[in-house]
Amino acid sequence: MSGCATANVSPEASGSGPNTSPNAASAPGSPQPGEPATSPSIASALPLGLILHGPRTRKWVALTFDADMTPDMLAELRDGTVASWFDARILAILQSTRPPATVFLTGLWARTYPDVVRKLAADPRFDLANHSFDHSAFEGPCYGLPIVAGGDAAKRAEVEQAAQAIEQIDGIAPRWFRFPGGCLSASDVGLVHSLGETPVQWDVVSGDAFQPDQTVVIRDVLSRVRPGSIVAMHFIGAPNAPATATALLTIIPTLRARGFSFVTLDTLLRSGLLPG
Ligand SMILES: [Zn+2]
Repeated sequence: MSGCATANVSPEASGSGPNTSPNAASAPGSPQPGEPATSPSIASALPLGLILHGPRTRKWVALTFDADMTPDMLAELRDGTVASWFDARILAILQSTRPPATVFLTGLWARTYPDVVRKLAADPRFDLANHSFDHSAFEGPCYGLPIVAGGDAAKRAEVEQAAQAIEQIDGIAPRWFRFPGGCLSASDVGLVHSLGETPVQWDVVSGDAFQPDQTVVIRDVLSRVRPGSIVAMHFIGAPNAPATATALLTIIPTLRARGFSFVTLDTLLRSGLLPG
């Protein structure tokens, strides 16, 4: 998410409160302390076919990590402004603590870090999913993100080009799609379904973007997770998500101690249940 190099605002996790876009299905920003994870306006505007969580019947939780990459982020990498948009500590923690997890890859990120994608693809505990080609928003305004230009054809290209980039490395076409910034319309949801993928957002925003204090991330996640929750975090590290890795060191064992099991989205959503 995040990934707004020019506006210094994280589209999906800026903490700027609910998305004011009338088409937004979920707030990309991390809710303020005390704010519910899902506002009533989000729930009432939820398009059919958009998944926010799995069945509430088992103490399963899906950790999901977004690997954002806008053209501006890529430029920052190339000119040395940013050292990396991959936080290797996150992968190391996931490999050592062994929770299944799902990584939503933008096409640009997959092309930039093919070796990392190969590692993820080779590990059955990871599922790879689609986060658009270049992290452009499907509907705007969207937290300073560039907006997809070119209507439905360009939106289809965002989905398909990312899927191709992932499938070229993984060998498996992604099943799940996450809208950059959480900005979307009902027709966008239908468009993604028409391409054979299912849009999946989240019910627990970790608030890890531009949050240097891991205790805030830990608190936000642990206070919101329920059976069936989908937790949205970032895979990109500093400067946009500097505390994710450290927060995981507490979040993973604490949720296990509370009786939760980690599962991939494939496992969580296997029943095909729609949000309810
Ligand atoms: Zn994103």
